[in-house]
Amino acid sequence: MIIDGKKESALLREEIKKEISSIKEKINKVPGLSVILIGDFLPSQIYVKNKEKKAKEVGINSEVIRYSKEVKETEIIKKIEELNNNKNVSGILVQLPLPSQISKEKIINAIDPQKDVDGFNPINVGNLSSGYQAVVPCTPLACLLLIKKVEKNLSGKHAVILGRSNLNGKPMAQLLLKENCTVTIVHSKTKNLKEECQKADILVAAVGVANLVKEDWVKKESIIIDVGINKIEDKIVGDVCFDQVKNKVNAITPVPGGVGPMTIACLLKNTVACFKKLNS
Ligand code: NAP
Repeated sequence: MIIDGKKESALLREEIKKEISSIKEKINKVPGLSVILIGDFLPSQIYVKNKEKKAKEVGINSEVIRYSKEVKETEIIKKIEELNNNKNVSGILVQLPLPSQISKEKIINAIDPQKDVDGFNPINVGNLSSGYQAVVPCTPLACLLLIKKVEKNLSGKHAVILGRSNLNGKPMAQLLLKENCTVTIVHSKTKNLKEECQKADILVAAVGVANLVKEDWVKKESIIIDVGINKIEDKIVGDVCFDQVKNKVNAITPVPGGVGPMTIACLLKNTVACFKKLNS
């Protein structure tokens, strides 16, 4: 089974659109998403444009606030504080990566945890790891929703996560622990990487190494979620050798068209969830 991220994300966006329309009917308000974009890094510009387009399509009031790459950190913090206090804004996102004069830590800490639609603020990270209610980072949330399309009950499954970043690997591990999986995280210093991956009922690859996971790394009947986005010449490929692996496993996400589109839908989902909490 190929897990169709485009189709699943379209279904989720349709649900979100209906929910926003019903909120609007009831209270005559819609969620607001403010995205801060610093500099002219092309991939960031493309991501932000896509996020803005999809947000508007579902009825979110979306704005992009642009700064040159020389902007001072204090100016960004001031803008974030302004957005924190703005009742029309329910979600704030600062597009990463940031230029070197701006501390990622300070920026993430400045965002009100209740408006932190990326789920990167340490309050949300702590709540997630404590099993409390939290805003969950969009990509791991997208991965979980896609896994659940194949298998509803994950209890007792052995999940192996390739990569331990704050963005992907660590929150993914927390989400799968919450689903009662037995979780192993592997990374660049792991010995016997292949052997660890072979044990996975669910394998989430988030390393950023093109075609790292080969056919003999995966278990028959397993679920493979490929987060990686890597460019080989003009082609975008994942961390998994899709053509080799697809016939062996139960389900796999393609790249492109898997986790990527679902991640954007999850950003919209988080924006609505923050709006509802702020307005409850
Ligand atoms: P990251 O911060 O660079 O982390 C990569 C992780 O992979 C690190 O933990 C690293 O180990 C590990 N790693 C690197 N090379 C390895 C190897 N050869 N063997 C085993 N482990 C290795 O990356 P990230 O931000 O998590 O992103 C990972 C990938 O996902 C990238 O391709 C990125 O573009 C993609 N991505 C996709 C989406 C989406 O929506 N689909 C969203 C975000 C990111 P160490 O910790 O030991 O260094």
